[in-house]
Amino acid sequence: MIEITRLNKWYGDFHVLRDIDLTVAKGERIVICGPSGSGKSTMIRCINHLEEHQQGEIVVGGIPMTRDVKRIEQIRRRVGMVFQHFNLFPHLTVLENCCLAQVWVQKKPRREAEKIAMEYLERVRIANQAQKYPGQLSGGQQQRVAIARSLCMHPEIMLFDEPTSALDPEMIKEVLDVMVQLASEGMTMLCVTHEMGFAKTVADRVIFMDQGQIIEQNPPTEFFGNPRSARTREFLSQIL
Ligand code: ADP
Ligand code: MG
Repeated sequence: MIEITRLNKWYGDFHVLRDIDLTVAKGERIVICGPSGSGKSTMIRCINHLEEHQQGEIVVGGIPMTRDVKRIEQIRRRVGMVFQHFNLFPHLTVLENCCLAQVWVQKKPRREAEKIAMEYLERVRIANQAQKYPGQLSGGQQQRVAIARSLCMHPEIMLFDEPTSALDPEMIKEVLDVMVQLASEGMTMLCVTHEMGFAKTVADRVIFMDQGQIIEQNPPTEFFGNPRSARTREFLSQIL
């Protein structure tokens, strides 16, 4: 589903991603962790061209990423993304948030878009809030809406960038539960998160990044039970 080869990226003079190689198979669930500033967000944002890379190759669902707008659109249609700060449209209701891209990007009739939106809102257990505005919901509820909105586009890959790190502790579980459900349904997922319980139960592979590099990647039992690199061990000792 995703094939990244020798990816390098700079922000001006700053070399943010260094020779990243990463292959993700269909249905695989990857957790990415690492210190703040290590390039986790930058890497996953490159996958749907929210960031542009300067060297290396990214192929998503068989489509090589280029600057061509058509290509980028083809890739983005396959990739859903959920951010730390939800990024819902505050002036639109929950239902309208979930319909917008279906109507304007996918050109679906509004009634069909609403039906699909309600199905996904049902799945994240928030259909009863469909007529409310994001500001009237808790953080956990808003993040579940953001996930539903993404799923309405029927993505083949879901990218999560610290989806629970802006939430109060009591709301983290309701969002993780939705992510666990999605994983059990076979979604291909890349999740930047420091929720190591989630990583242990859901991830096929855990990736540790530091200073723009992938330092280590292993199945969770190996990753947590026998971390190879000193940097991984140090990081784990700080967060576990
Ligand atoms: P992480 O998600 O692991 O915390 P990021 O990918 O957000 O790391 O950032 C990696 C590094 O790149 C950080 O040092 C950050 O300050 C820098 N950076 C991120 N975005 C930009 C940008 N738009 N311009 C310049 N530097 C940036
Ligand atoms: Mg980040």
